[in-house]
Amino acid sequence: RETCLKVTDLKMYFPVKSGIFSKARSLKAVDGVSFSIAQGETMGLVGESGCGKTTVGRTILKLYEATGGSIVYKGTNITGFDDQEMRPYRRKMQMIFQDPYTSLDPRMNVEAIISEPIRALKLCSEGDRRDRVRELIQMVGLKADHLNRYPHEFSGGQRQRIGIARALAAEPEFIVCDEPISALDVSIQAQVINILEELQHKFGFTYLFISHDLSMVRHISHQVGVMYLGNLIEYAQVDELYDNMLHPYTKSLISAVPVADPNQARQNKRIVLQGDVPSPIDPPPGCPFRARCAYAKEICGREKPELKKINDDHMVACHLY
Ligand code: SF4
Repeated sequence: RETCLKVTDLKMYFPVKSGIFSKARSLKAVDGVSFSIAQGETMGLVGESGCGKTTVGRTILKLYEATGGSIVYKGTNITGFDDQEMRPYRRKMQMIFQDPYTSLDPRMNVEAIISEPIRALKLCSEGDRRDRVRELIQMVGLKADHLNRYPHEFSGGQRQRIGIARALAAEPEFIVCDEPISALDVSIQAQVINILEELQHKFGFTYLFISHDLSMVRHISHQVGVMYLGNLIEYAQVDELYDNMLHPYTKSLISAVPVADPNQARQNKRIVLQGDVPSPIDPPPGCPFRARCAYAKEICGREKPELKKINDDHMVACHLY
């Protein structure tokens, strides 16, 4: 399959205010992340909150200006593009937000919310717009008579469907799904995931699916990247990652996922990490995980491990390999 998105050595540093006599410091939210996603596929990006996964999504969509590295979308390097140059790409690259309760304007009815991108991007005539909005609301499993209502009249799951319809209105190709189900009841999470999967089958969308829910990521993704302290520490095809995880951090993360089968639960002993995630402000050299790693060696404090290819489907950043 052709590559939709290729990210190379992406960095996003935020300056941190310090006293007038102290040296300038930076928060390294994303510190050299590389991956690519094939067209029509889903890459899951996992890690604890604060690991930089949402910043990766926002930097790719150029909601932040990358500090370094490159973002190539369908063969075009968009890294240095200004607003004018980004205009055609803004439409193709959309985002579904985490919180369906705050991402919809409470003063607008559903029709106005979904119409917004159609009008802003002048995608069809005013006459055709109404039909298009009806089509979009039905695509996400809601009814045309919902269009006159306001966000507060809907449940969280319904609001997230409205958010998806709004993203679809721009006729995207690539969608960053930023924790799209984490604010929803477990009972309706699967419905939203099913809609995303159906839309991918129908329209060939490419997704970057950001989540801390490893079971859901396994279900929806073709490949998965694991982030820790702004770094991509393991990256593999989905079954390869879950069946043959290598990085000590990935092992602890996956060991925490509950399994239904009691025999398997006994086999998969939970690995509890000691200590907290270190501060991303001027992190010390070496492996970002070493303060919590049971296998750390002398080299781990000196050299930051590169993401190394283990086989065609698997890469890991760890001096053990
Ligand atoms: Fe642990 Fe060293 Fe591997 Fe980092 S590089 S995960 S500290 S063994």
